[in-house]
Amino acid sequence: MATTSTTGLETVRAEIARACRDAGRDPSDVTLVAVSKTFSAERIEPVIEAGQRVFGENRVQEAKAKWPALMQKHRGIELHLIGPLQSNKAKEAVALFDAIHSVDRPSLCEALAKEIAKQERSPLLFVEINTGAEPQKAGILPQDADAFLAACREKYGLTIAGLMCIPPFEEAPGPHFALTAKIAKRNGLKLLSMGMSADFATAIQLGATHVRVGSAIFGERH
Ligand SMILES: *Cc1c(COP(=O)(O)O)cnc(C)c1O
Repeated sequence: MATTSTTGLETVRAEIARACRDAGRDPSDVTLVAVSKTFSAERIEPVIEAGQRVFGENRVQEAKAKWPALMQKHRGIELHLIGPLQSNKAKEAVALFDAIHSVDRPSLCEALAKEIAKQERSPLLFVEINTGAEPQKAGILPQDADAFLAACREKYGLTIAGLMCIPPFEEAPGPHFALTAKIAKRNGLKLLSMGMSADFATAIQLGATHVRVGSAIFGERH
């Protein structure tokens, strides 16, 4: 029989527990964000029924199509946006998501600040850091992070809870996680969204508070 998403979930939970033990961390300090992008409600439901409550999606439209019905049916779901956000979708994103991991430019800050005030909602906000300075990737360059975080606070009145990174695919992730943790620490930020299926144990070792795990739970995406 093929591996089901609930056995994937069990395996990931056990690996998170082990990584926390190895790092001397409390497992309750690490939130598993189950990344359900591309998977249907039918594939997601068994994972909800197995007790998972925090889910990640990378597109506003896809999340809007899938999640309102699931959230009606199952209590206590927390939905995180992990993918890039266009400013013109800030309204929908603030209405739907409990956390946004991809704050990465002033125009988005402005749009988010406006919607947060208007809707009286306060999603947890993470600033994405482009630790590998990859031109095709979103995120603030490490050397611009301190100034950007100050602007989020002072210019836009946003409360940033933490940082997020996606290390370059072909590089060892450890130094990227360590750099992200260092920038967070010197800016007084407590949350770190880092680590995916291939490297969440390393991320936990380096301080991740939110690991974004998709394929290790749901299987390969097509
Ligand atoms: C898809 C995605 C993930 C999950 O990736 P897996 O390798 O399937 O665990 C994590 N973070 C972001 C930003 C993603 O887009």
